[in-house]
Amino acid sequence: MADRSTNGPSGRPRVLVLGGGFAGIGAARELKDSDVDVVLVDRHDYHTFQPLLYQLATGLLEQTAVGHSLRDLVHGQANVTVHKESVTAIDLEAREAHFAEIAPIAYDYLVLALGAEVNFFGTEGAAEHAFPMYTLPDAVRLKNHILRKWEDADRNPDLVDDGALNVVVVGGGPTGVESAGALAELYRGDFAKDYPRISQDKARIILVEAGPQLFAMFKDDIRAYTEKALAKRTVEVIVGEAVESVSPTRVKLKSGAVLDAHTLVWGAGLQGNRLVQGLSLDLARGNRIGVGPELTIEDHPEVYALGDVAAITDAKTKQVLPQLGSVALQSGEHAGEDIARRVSGKEPKPFKYKDKGTMATIGRGAAVVQMLGGRTMKGKAAQLAWGTVHLALLPTNEDRAKAVVDWAGAGLTHQRTGRITVETDERDEERSAT
Ligand SMILES: Cc1cc2nc3c(=O)[nH]c(=O)nc-3n(C[C@H](O)[C@H](O)[C@H](O)COP(=O)(O)OP(=O)(O)OC[C@H]3O[C@@H](n4cnc5c(N)ncnc54)[C@H](O)[C@@H]3O)c2cc1C
Repeated sequence: MADRSTNGPSGRPRVLVLGGGFAGIGAARELKDSDVDVVLVDRHDYHTFQPLLYQLATGLLEQTAVGHSLRDLVHGQANVTVHKESVTAIDLEAREAHFAEIAPIAYDYLVLALGAEVNFFGTEGAAEHAFPMYTLPDAVRLKNHILRKWEDADRNPDLVDDGALNVVVVGGGPTGVESAGALAELYRGDFAKDYPRISQDKARIILVEAGPQLFAMFKDDIRAYTEKALAKRTVEVIVGEAVESVSPTRVKLKSGAVLDAHTLVWGAGLQGNRLVQGLSLDLARGNRIGVGPELTIEDHPEVYALGDVAAITDAKTKQVLPQLGSVALQSGEHAGEDIARRVSGKEPKPFKYKDKGTMATIGRGAAVVQMLGGRTMKGKAAQLAWGTVHLALLPTNEDRAKAVVDWAGAGLTHQRTGRITVETDERDEERSAT
């Protein structure tokens, strides 16, 4: 039996927010002073700052710089209840959501902000052996895996000849380019000093893109700059090649070429959260929910779909907006504001996106920015713009201060201090040894 909002102690409308990413948090916080009860549900007890995942994976940042306690983010907001729980289904007709371990929850307004998930496009072996970069556990897993490979290779040089230290990064968009650049800096900087007996020539970073060029969404000058910046960092780039299959130690390309690599980082594709497939809606490209100008779904004005799970058409350009943190945050804030307006008897308003530019970092002092009008920036100025925009996306002032200190520290010392492995099963080993 669903927990009905009309039976709730406050008797106020209930806003059920599914997903505590940029969009969900944006909506929940915007309802702070509204006469509603907000229930925020996420499968994790933390908000993940995805743009910094590659910095965690390469030891530049610590876990708490990328994941922030969800409960902490709504401290001081008395109308919010948080549940760490997995959503299993949504019944749009009955207006309730179902969960793995708690009773269904009914809603007056639903904020669907469940984000996106990796799409391996059916590539053989990818689900088992690839390292995607979309969640905090993904980043920690990749970091631990790479550290283990270097330790193993240090003990057994034969592994180096087998390609144990080579990494193939798939996808020439921002996730792939940023990951490849950061891995190359980790390899040529810290690991060169950590493992002086291992030849860096035998530790390759290879970026593979199926399309004809990297950074398809950027202008030519940015692409040329990116190619140079990657080459300077010794990243090898292969374009016009797709991955056919992956095993624990080899990556086979569609052309038949085989790369010896014990690590494949997948930054090649996203799709809307699979839960949306059960909603009986016509989905847009990439499993995303098409929304109207107010960000609500057809025939369900009480349901907002936001951020990565939604296909939001920009009112100005008439183009579907990209899956970006600023789109998610602004769409969440819009939904929160809109619900507050409706609850207080006002009319909803259409969503207007403020474009802050499309940007990516390739490495230290090397970033690129393309503004809405087409103006581009490259290098240190672009890195500063990237830092400013991303600091604004961080959820609290403490997080911003921490990121500035970490980035400044790494910039000065060139050290990635997070390159330690913490084995969670160590206690068992210690016990069995006694
Ligand atoms: C590696 C990487 C780098 C990026 N870099 C940038 C960048 O530099 N700049 C930029 O603007 N954007 C960047 N992005 C994109 C940006 O992070 C996303 O657009 C943004 O996170 C989308 O926000 P969201 O709230 O829609 O979804 P998410 O942030 O993905 O949040 C969705 C939430 O839903 C929860 N959830 C999912 N399924 C369930 C379930 N069944 N039950 C309960 N909870 C569930 C998840 O735990 C998650 O907390 C990057 C993305 C990635 C992956």
